[in-house]
Amino acid sequence: MGFADWARGLFRQGRQGNAAPAAAIPVTQDGADAIKVFVRCRRCGEPISVRIRLTDEVGEAEEGAACAYWVQKEISGSGRRRCFQRMHLRLEMDRDRQVVRYELTGADLLTPEEYRRELARWESPTQ
Ligand SMILES: [Zn+2]
Repeated sequence: MGFADWARGLFRQGRQGNAAPAAAIPVTQDGADAIKVFVRCRRCGEPISVRIRLTDEVGEAEEGAACAYWVQKEISGSGRRRCFQRMHLRLEMDRDRQVVRYELTGADLLTPEEYRRELARWESPTQ
């Protein structure tokens, strides 16, 4: 499945209202023009910090769409544990660039606290 097909598929899902509510996504401001979302790879458990630049990575939604802006990113881990799974994140935002819905495949969301804890575990030499 190509990226365009994947993107269209997500958009359809979004329109059908299957996306999770915004309250479920912890987004961290990262400087004036970027946000960070923390996820964990479902296959290998690697915690990954995803930085999204609001200036050039976020696009305006088409007229009539439920959101004002959207961004989607393909996420890949470090490959350190031979996991090369691709994960996909899509965020939809309102006019104030607040995330109103999201979709994430191949990974689970982490809060910043969970991310720090998972990172310590991931980098621990005993595991
Ligand atoms: Zn992985």
